[in-house]
Amino acid sequence: MKWSKHFRVKPGQAVRLADWDATWTGSFKDKDDARDGLRENIARMDELQYLLYAQRKYALLIVLQGMDASGKDGTIRHVMSGLNPQSCYVQAFKEPTPEELDHDFLWRIHHAVPGRGEIGIFNRSHYEDVLVVRVHDLVPRRVWGQRYDQIKAFERILTENNVVILKFFLNTSRDEQRVRLQDRLKDPTKRWKISPADFAERKYWSAYQQAYEEALTKCNAAHAPWFVIPADHRWFRNWAVSQIIVEALEGLKMKFPRPKFNAAHIRIP
Ligand code: ATP
Ligand code: MG
Repeated sequence: MKWSKHFRVKPGQAVRLADWDATWTGSFKDKDDARDGLRENIARMDELQYLLYAQRKYALLIVLQGMDASGKDGTIRHVMSGLNPQSCYVQAFKEPTPEELDHDFLWRIHHAVPGRGEIGIFNRSHYEDVLVVRVHDLVPRRVWGQRYDQIKAFERILTENNVVILKFFLNTSRDEQRVRLQDRLKDPTKRWKISPADFAERKYWSAYQQAYEEALTKCNAAHAPWFVIPADHRWFRNWAVSQIIVEALEGLKMKFPRPKFNAAHIRIP
């Protein structure tokens, strides 16, 4: 059985995050136990990326969402370390600029979607528009309430045009977030990463969990699935994300394109 199934939200399933254990580590005992698996997946991703680029039929869009300190940056650093930067890029979505706010919320997103042959990684995404925006009433409920359907329609357009979408929610517990924020306060090499706002956001933990539950429930589809990744253990999070990417790319049954000429007739002068 594919590992992806363990993490995937089933179509129609209502997500209750309390039911998803953030500390789960599958069949692995510890980090050492998972090390070879991660290494193999990273090597396999390199081969599959090469094929994706050569075939130029599909694009892969990886969406990373999670609470502050859930490990979005760490996942990119560790899991994507073997990818060729030639056909892969990361796009981070911060607070929208005035220009972005003058457009519909998907304008900046659509622009950043990977082209055929490419892998695009979204560090935060259009989901912020039903998460932070909802939690802080940045637009009226009437406006954000329509966005679930709009996101579904948008993702359908992408997948019908050969963009493979994998959406990861890095599920960390509230206790683990406290530990990580404390670490960041203490460690001068991490302190630069935090702002007082990150601590203030913790007060909204349950509002965020509710917003995530609704987004994961309403915007989950067979063609654009959500995966809930147990992310309290960084090493397991890395392995799980890499495993799902490998399984998804292998499922595409990609092939190298046939040359448009007869190689047997070529003489190298
Ligand atoms: P890191 O802290 O690791 O650098 P980050 O993604 O938290 O990464 P920040 O600059 O700290 O980066 O935060 C970006 C902020 O932008 C987040 O608080 C996020 O909620 C906010 N943001 C992203 N998209 C939107 C949006 N559409 N509307 C309002 N706020 C948004
Ligand atoms: Mg931040």
